[in-house]
Formats: sequence, C-alpha cells, structure tokens
Amino acid sequence: MSSVDMTNISRCPTEVTLIVNGSSGSLDLELEWAYIAKEIFALFKEKQHDYGPHNIGLGQDPAIVVRMTDKFMRLHNLYNSGETPNNESLDDTWKDVADYAIIALMCRRGHWPKSNLKEVLNTTITVCSDCGTELLYENKGSCHQCGCDSPKEVLGE
Ligand SMILES: [Zn+2]
Repeated sequence: MSSVDMTNISRCPTEVTLIVNGSSGSLDLELEWAYIAKEIFALFKEKQHDYGPHNIGLGQDPAIVVRMTDKFMRLHNLYNSGETPNNESLDDTWKDVADYAIIALMCRRGHWPKSNLKEVLNTTITVCSDCGTELLYENKGSCHQCGCDSPKEVLGE
C-alpha cells in the first residue's frame, strides 16, 4: 500500500495538503519527507523564476534524462573524490534530482507546455521604436544601440 494517500491531498488553486498520520509506520519519517517536499517546491519556484518554462518545454521528459545524468555524474564525482563542491551543495544537487523527477512526471501527464525553439526566440525579438535596431533580449529596459527607454515593438505581431 502506498504511504501517500492521493485521496487525502486536497486540490484547490493555492493550497495542497499532505496528511502526516503515521500510516506508513513512521510519523517522523513522513514529517521529514513532507518538509523536504516543501523545500523542493520552493526550489522549483525559484528555478522557474530564472529559467522560465521553455528549457523543459523544448525536450520534455526525455531531455530531463540528460539533465538528471549530469546531476548523477556530479554526485558520483563528488562522492568518489571526497572533494567539497565549488558551487552547489550535495543537498542542492539531490533536490535538483527530485525536482527533475517531478517535472518529468508533469511532462508525461501532459501538464508541461511544449516549446518550439523558433517560436521561443521569435517572441523575444523586438525592435527599438526610436532607432529601429532589432533587439534579441531587450524587450524591457534600455536599447543597447541608442540607450532610449521607449516602448519596443515585438516582431511578427
Ligand atoms: Zn534604440
């Protein structure tokens, strides 16, 4: 029997409840699992803020296999060498693996939007309304050519 009873997870737009009731045989382990799940959710939101949905949307779950392999190779290398990581901690790497696994399930269930590289890049090509320069990533802020802060027109719309 599953230790997570999906029928007890409430579905509403802003809140999901995990029932920690000891049905797995250990209230302590359930509680630790739930707290770590909260950490992984917080990490997911931070990373999405920075990456946006398209890196996952381009390759979906098969591409996540490659990303997870990078993480496993990183873990193997650090455990094998005993070295201290220069960048993200071992805990952060394990959290990334867990986050990727959940995102892969979202892809498999059709809950992650599919992206097309050409469409993604086209939506970010804008034209400065003052000097007419094509700006690949400057749809907000100043134009690199003339320095103006004028509204930019998105190409192809
Ligand atoms: Zn300009």
